[in-house]
Amino acid sequence: MRFDNSYARLPARMYTRLNPEPVSDPQIIAVNAPLAAELGIDPAQLTAEVLAGNALPEGAEPLAQAYAGHQFGGWVPQLGDGRAILLGEVVGEHGRRDIQLKGSGRTPYSRQGDGRAWLGPVLREYILSEAMHALGVPTTRALAVATTGERVQREQGFPGAVLTRVASSHIRVGTFQYFAARSDTEALQALTDHVIARHYPNADGPMDMLRGVVQAQARLVAQWMSLGFIHGVMNTDNTALSGETIDYGPCAFMDGYHPSTVFSSIDQYGRYAYQNQPNIAAWNLAQLATALLPLMADREAAIEEATEVVNGFVEPFQAEWMRLFRAKIGLAREEEGDETLITGLLGRMATSNSDFTNTFRALTREDASAHITDPGAWDSWLPDWQARLAREPGEAVDHQATMRAANPVLIPRNHRVEQAIQAGLTGDFAPFHRLNAALAAPHVDNPDYTDLTHPPEDHERVTRTFCGT
Ligand code: AMP
Ligand code: MG
Repeated sequence: MRFDNSYARLPARMYTRLNPEPVSDPQIIAVNAPLAAELGIDPAQLTAEVLAGNALPEGAEPLAQAYAGHQFGGWVPQLGDGRAILLGEVVGEHGRRDIQLKGSGRTPYSRQGDGRAWLGPVLREYILSEAMHALGVPTTRALAVATTGERVQREQGFPGAVLTRVASSHIRVGTFQYFAARSDTEALQALTDHVIARHYPNADGPMDMLRGVVQAQARLVAQWMSLGFIHGVMNTDNTALSGETIDYGPCAFMDGYHPSTVFSSIDQYGRYAYQNQPNIAAWNLAQLATALLPLMADREAAIEEATEVVNGFVEPFQAEWMRLFRAKIGLAREEEGDETLITGLLGRMATSNSDFTNTFRALTREDASAHITDPGAWDSWLPDWQARLAREPGEAVDHQATMRAANPVLIPRNHRVEQAIQAGLTGDFAPFHRLNAALAAPHVDNPDYTDLTHPPEDHERVTRTFCGT
């Protein structure tokens, strides 16, 4: 691995140097060979010892990053990598990537936690993050899963595991908040310079960086919405400056569509419900803006400008949302009434609790009516859609190609993820590997994977997801 550890060169108070805690019996469950190749890593280097934290690859400079954050709107001044260690950054053909072990033992930021992860959430993050990547959504990646041979105590004892996570960086809104809250302007400046160099090389100063982050987050959340993805824990410490999806804790793809859907067991008030995600993203960006103010000369003017920049979330979000949802109903060109047409369909889907993924995909095959069970609802939408498609350039085959590219056949359905985890807990990883193989080509109609397109039966339904801590 060609390490070049730029974060480790930042002021020492921004992190704590320490090694992962060794485990008793490391075993490899999965290695993501295509990702290793992208990173220029020889898979032979990815031994069980390395992937569980027992051995360090040459050039690694392990550290735990300090950060803070707003969790469910409440300020927590001290978070940080409580169960993760950044081994370092590798520079490959696609640029610089963090290599992080998650579940690698206690750190000074562990608070009451044990620093460990159990197999369930690790398999979950592997499946979900790789599926998101295959769906074209910016995301952290999963390079490997290793088991530790040790038990992790939760509601019951579970096998311990370590995920090797890859990210363009692990810097969060909460990382900025940590230094702002400590009035550590020097660290804040160093972090800003680091993020600009790493993610926004054309940005001229913190305000311009903020502008870039707003754009990236707006595009990201629009993509989530277009796939029925619910992040579930959009705290500021889970909002990456890179614009990648990070933290696959209680996240889930919706089966039946309803805008107020919530999965997370701890999200009692639906703060992070599907429909709230754009507002929450903007709220998180406002926290970033606030954290950046100490770097700006004229505070009053800066507050005014930063407010404008954060409010600027709406426009790129709306534009991207419209582009994505237009494509989902076969439209490439823009017309005035498109939004009404799209929200008209979504409203009908909500009333019928239509399967989000399958209904959109069915538009391609013209059997979508079966999904809109509310009497008369489909018939009152269809003519408007057909009239609109008739005004669209190209033939029906072109519209269908647009739709097929925008509407995946396969998403990591909760009940399938759960089944893969349950099998994994008995030592059978075949369903996990099969699910990953299927999700690598989510837009392909593959008869081998028809079962994975089905919504859950009542007894399979997963109604609650957990943080995995
Ligand atoms: P998360 O819910 O994964 O975003 O984590 C929130 C905070 O809790 C972060 O600072 C984590 O490092 C920390 N944390 C979560 N689980 C554990 C654990 N098992 N041991 C120590 N710290 C943890
Ligand atoms: Mg987190």
